[in-house]
Amino acid sequence: MSKYDFVKNSNLVIQAKLLRETNMYPFFRPISSPQSDTAIIEGQEVLMFGSNNYLGLNNHPKIKEAATAAINKYGTSCTGSRFMNGTLDLHHELEDELKDFLGKEAVIIFPTGFQVNTGVLPAMAGKGDHIFIDELNHASIIDGCRMSLAQRIKYKHNDIFDLGRKLNRGKNSAGVKLIITDGIFSMDGDIAKLDRIVMEASKHDAFTFVDCAHAIGVLGNHGAGTASHYGITEQVDLIGGTFSKSMASVGGFVAGNKDVIDYLSHASRSYMFSASLPPASTASVLASLRLIKSDDSFRQKLWENTHYALRLMREHNLDIGLAETPIIPIYIRDSILTFRVARKLLNRGIYVNPVVAPGVKENDALLRFSLTAAHSKDQIEHAIETISQVVKSYVPQENLCH
Ligand code: PMP
Repeated sequence: MSKYDFVKNSNLVIQAKLLRETNMYPFFRPISSPQSDTAIIEGQEVLMFGSNNYLGLNNHPKIKEAATAAINKYGTSCTGSRFMNGTLDLHHELEDELKDFLGKEAVIIFPTGFQVNTGVLPAMAGKGDHIFIDELNHASIIDGCRMSLAQRIKYKHNDIFDLGRKLNRGKNSAGVKLIITDGIFSMDGDIAKLDRIVMEASKHDAFTFVDCAHAIGVLGNHGAGTASHYGITEQVDLIGGTFSKSMASVGGFVAGNKDVIDYLSHASRSYMFSASLPPASTASVLASLRLIKSDDSFRQKLWENTHYALRLMREHNLDIGLAETPIIPIYIRDSILTFRVARKLLNRGIYVNPVVAPGVKENDALLRFSLTAAHSKDQIEHAIETISQVVKSYVPQENLCH
């Protein structure tokens, strides 16, 4: 027995090997161009329906100019964490503008969106406390809960009765109660019922935390996210999110009441002990934010494209569940078939992300089709027609139940 046997015998490695042998392995494909309406993947130009570049800002000249200027002024790294030598005046400028954009008193920015959840959750809740999570919340939320040592209580997806029942069960416990949800669900593409979550929270004196990773730039006033979409920014305690999607950069943030954010800046380990957001990334976010605030045309185009795609997909009888945003899941409900269909689509010049467990539940394997403001109607039409043909040729009718 070698010490590496557990790695070689791992199911993950065996499955990856099988997929490689059958030419269906879909992960880590190198891209050699900007990701916009198209991209060059392994030398092939494809229609790109698999990015999170919702507003199409990824290759915007003003943002690239801002990033270049920041490198020229500050260099390429901050060489330390925010807590120590890693705070730039540029970070403060961004935090200041972001808090106004989100309508909150204070904001801190993190190196990644993932680190927001793994930093904030353990700081807000610990042993003896309860965190209530939607069963479809993102992996970073689950990890944040695990790291917190609080009891994690899952409620059924977007089911506020179930959340209420679970909150009621713990009504006599003394600890902190915190409810966290994705603002737009990252794979299923539906919007959290945050207005009703906030009502339940107030009955039980629970904190509310919405992760707007996919909602920033997409929902709400100028794209201020899910709380703004419902007009309940005041009632939501914490708004988190990332810069890696609509904002064409990398990094994350959490916004809230001044005291809570001050506390988090001294208690979130992923904020305190990780190198801060590099100058170019920070400047890119600032430039994106300014564009988003001053020009609604990107968001309008994104929603036009979204409504068009949703209508076409439903006309083609594709199973897209409760999709209502630029993230459209096309359910295939079988992992191998999902890989196969994604490969066939790539052969025909269309990139979509195949998503299987643990990204989604075992029987919910899907193609994640995502739109950007950069797509044209013709591109959307062509992609959906091709997807419909390929899905119907390879996926048995019973999988496509609605
Ligand atoms: N939260 C949600 C809901 C996400 O979907 C993601 C990434 N897909 C993250 C957090 C992590 O963000 P990042 O990739 O910026 O670290």
